[in-house]
Amino acid sequence: MENIPVWALNATLGSFKQLDRKISVEVAVIGGGITGITTAQLLKKRGIKTAVIESRKIGQGTTGQSTGNLYAPTEYDFSKMLSKYSSEQVQQIILSRLQAIEMIQKNIEQFAIPCDFHLRPMYYFNAYNDKNLQHEKRHAHELGLQTTSLPKDFPLYFEDGYGIENQAQFNPLIYTQRLAHEIFDADCEIFEDTCINEIEKDDEFYYLKTDMTRIKAKYVVHATHTPKGLLVPYHTALAPYREYGIAVTLKNDLYPEGIFWAYYGEEKFSIRSYKNELGSFLICIGSMHKVGQADDNRENISRLIDFVNKHFEVESVNYMWGGQNYKAADMLPYIGKKSAESREFIATGFSTDGLVYGTLAAQIISDAIAQIENPYAELYKANRSQPLKAAKNIVKENLNVLGKLAGDFFKNGEPKEVESISPNEGKLIQTEEGKFAVSKDDKGEVKVLSPICPHMGCTVHWNFAEKSWDCPCHGSRFDTNGKVIEGPSFKNLEQIKLKKPKE
Ligand SMILES: Cc1cc2nc3c(=O)[nH]c(=O)nc-3n(C[C@H](O)[C@H](O)[C@H](O)COP(=O)(O)OP(=O)(O)OC[C@H]3O[C@@H](n4cnc5c(N)ncnc54)[C@H](O)[C@@H]3O)c2cc1C
Repeated sequence: MENIPVWALNATLGSFKQLDRKISVEVAVIGGGITGITTAQLLKKRGIKTAVIESRKIGQGTTGQSTGNLYAPTEYDFSKMLSKYSSEQVQQIILSRLQAIEMIQKNIEQFAIPCDFHLRPMYYFNAYNDKNLQHEKRHAHELGLQTTSLPKDFPLYFEDGYGIENQAQFNPLIYTQRLAHEIFDADCEIFEDTCINEIEKDDEFYYLKTDMTRIKAKYVVHATHTPKGLLVPYHTALAPYREYGIAVTLKNDLYPEGIFWAYYGEEKFSIRSYKNELGSFLICIGSMHKVGQADDNRENISRLIDFVNKHFEVESVNYMWGGQNYKAADMLPYIGKKSAESREFIATGFSTDGLVYGTLAAQIISDAIAQIENPYAELYKANRSQPLKAAKNIVKENLNVLGKLAGDFFKNGEPKEVESISPNEGKLIQTEEGKFAVSKDDKGEVKVLSPICPHMGCTVHWNFAEKSWDCPCHGSRFDTNGKVIEGPSFKNLEQIKLKKPKE
């Protein structure tokens, strides 16, 4: 089983240059996922000079880890949405998402993007009849969606369920990469392998700093899935979750067509098939947990494998990957200006629905920059939450503690627990000097990091399946060298040089 998303198999990666010179643009878009690339596309259409700056490769963030389903409903049950919002508001949500899907479809047609786009039904079903899906079906119908019953040849065991017609599926990574190539030119530059480490500003401009150079811009768009830096009100209002995907091949050719959302007691599994020139795969996504809060997330992946083995004739489990989602407390994403007077825009809180919400965010944000009214801007307005004032101090306090610890590691001899760490594993180790994030590489070499997340001072946890240090508070993740992989932290985990005790 390889640790990569199935979408990466036939995608072309790494074709945009790293930024190595100072540039000046009207809009700097940080992040080259579906949100960032679509925002750049729409800004370009309006003649606004834009640069997209991507720390890794285009589409390889959460966009390239998703299931590739495009649907009008959201992760949340209609009954839950209707308990918080009026039916007119829920209809607006559905309409806003439908026109975002339409834009994706138009792009695919206009640019002839070979990303296996198909209209498909979406099926909801449960195995124990413990979820009132007929009630949900009624809501869907009343909200204007075209509902159906489950077909006779439905491929999985169910007790209750229903379908919604005319939803869609595609390959999200190929779509985003090809769109990036279509829009790239001198007025819409795209850079890969270029990480923004800091943002400074004066009255007129923002200055986005990389290791090598800087970008000057009038507007900044945080298309980074969760905004970077200390945007306290947003990060405290968002819960970061991690879930997993597997792609398997089957012994027979019974790959089901459609979007399948299966409720099995407490668990929800999302199932779909994907066929390309490399073969056919059944994809199963689920086993969600709060970031940094699973004891050993290899069990989460085993649960996915058990599920597909129980319901399908599995030949082999070929690929496995993880991905993150950020849930807003009020179930709606935050899209728009960070604050009324700011020229920084955010697009976050997409939950597991962000291929569509990311496209919608691009429409809302590009309209705002071009000073065009958008009918959905008010509904998703970013600055609808209240700041939490105390958080800045928490960070400062923890960074002070860290300063004292660095360098003292192993002062009193290597703790025994380091021996108990196997190659490719990590552990938090408490010594007299404090706590450390210790891991071993495949050759058994020890790497020691501060366990304090530089974002807001929480303690990171070891991620067994993906070999990373994950912060349970706001979802920042770091590799075993301390480098940020994703999440709000601009800074890396501090590396601690080993000082062997004197003989
Ligand atoms: C397992 C899983 C399945 C999902 N399935 C679906 C689905 O079927 N349908 C659906 O609609 N949604 C789905 N989602 C949600 C969806 O994938 C995301 O909401 C969406 O892809 C977010 O897109 P984005 O462009 O905002 O973020 P991303 O795709 O994460 O892009 C952000 C980019 O910012 C870059 N970046 C971060 N920090 C910096 C920095 N400092 N400097 C420069 N660049 C930086 C990252 O490298 C990354 O490429 C799923 C999510 C998961 C985890």
